[in-house]
Amino acid sequence: MTIGILGGGQLGYMLALAGYPLGLHFRFLDPSPEAPVGRIAARVSVPFDDRKALEKFASGLELVTYEFENVPVESARYLEKFVPVLPSPAALEVAQDRLTEKQLFQKLGIPTTEYIAPKIGEELELPLKKLGYPVIIKTRRLGYDGKGQWILRTPDGLAEAREELPKVPLILEKFVPFTRELSVLAARSRGGEVAIYPLVENHHRGGILRLSLSPAPGLDAATQRAAEEAARSVLEELKYVGVLAIEFFEQDGRLLANEMAPRVHNSGHWTIEGAVTSQFENHLRAVVGLPLGSTASMGCSAMVNLIGELPETADVLRVVGAHLHLYGKTPRAGRKLGHVTVRAASWEGLTGRLAELPGFFQRPEFCLRLERVGGKDLAEHVPG
Ligand code: AMP
Repeated sequence: MTIGILGGGQLGYMLALAGYPLGLHFRFLDPSPEAPVGRIAARVSVPFDDRKALEKFASGLELVTYEFENVPVESARYLEKFVPVLPSPAALEVAQDRLTEKQLFQKLGIPTTEYIAPKIGEELELPLKKLGYPVIIKTRRLGYDGKGQWILRTPDGLAEAREELPKVPLILEKFVPFTRELSVLAARSRGGEVAIYPLVENHHRGGILRLSLSPAPGLDAATQRAAEEAARSVLEELKYVGVLAIEFFEQDGRLLANEMAPRVHNSGHWTIEGAVTSQFENHLRAVVGLPLGSTASMGCSAMVNLIGELPETADVLRVVGAHLHLYGKTPRAGRKLGHVTVRAASWEGLTGRLAELPGFFQRPEFCLRLERVGGKDLAEHVPG
């Protein structure tokens, strides 16, 4: 059985690695001839909107899924003429626009950050004043890893930001002085079975995920329940098939949904070694229509992203419980090149192992001192 995957980055790479033991084969479509999956699977390098190439790509495939959420919805819809596309293009469409995403959360009674979506070209002073500072301006579409975001601490910031703001739909969000960031990963299969992972605590720098701790330290049952209810309602509403990620801000014991991703997610990489079934395997099980695997965690995990540069392989592997994943990409500033997951039976054990990681990892951007940075520390969290 061959599965087509739109996008050929590290998420696709790890999907294929999880699928080979299940006897699955893969064919990728990615515009970049450098897409990392080229090392391990068949890859077609054409633009996402090349209809002739899409039709050819679909031939002989069991189904198509994606590892990249900015695949044009029209391309996903076009592929549906030839082969099932999961999650549905409708789910992809909702998740591509921060406004429709927030409207979905609100419709389902899931609390979100306060926001205003101005019309293109509308003067921003009034809506900004209405929300109150600090405010984050985000592009509604095509933002990732903190790109397409501007933080305004005071009304004076607008003049400077205005120079850079593109003429595209924007959303203004009130800055949330959160206690911490959490995310939930959930899978729904073709048969409607749902499986949800424990909440993960995420630390960002410059808008990019640096560290995920799982299960989120000090996680209480009510918070986990709230996340599960939110995930379940989104999955059911969209008749979603596959893995979905929802990112939250935790503030005063309450979860505010920030955004969702209709795909496997960076904050779920820990599941490869830290959960009974990885997010990648569960995504494949879900889209193929197989029973979902247990989402229980095995001990405590820390997943550290390797961004822009790589440590010495031997220095990482010397640490007991450390697992290195290299994506085969050429190093470039800000680029996700790999990750390390360290696992232990307890938080005490994990903290000890993290301290054994080489000096490379002890720099502040790795967040390994596990201090609570908190949303008040604006500069640390948001670019601009
Ligand atoms: P996003 O692309 O929406 O995930 O934003 C990237 C990161 O910027 C988030 O993970 C947060 O650390 C920070 N951020 C985004 N929106 C807000 C907000 N409304 N309040 C506080 N921090 C935010």
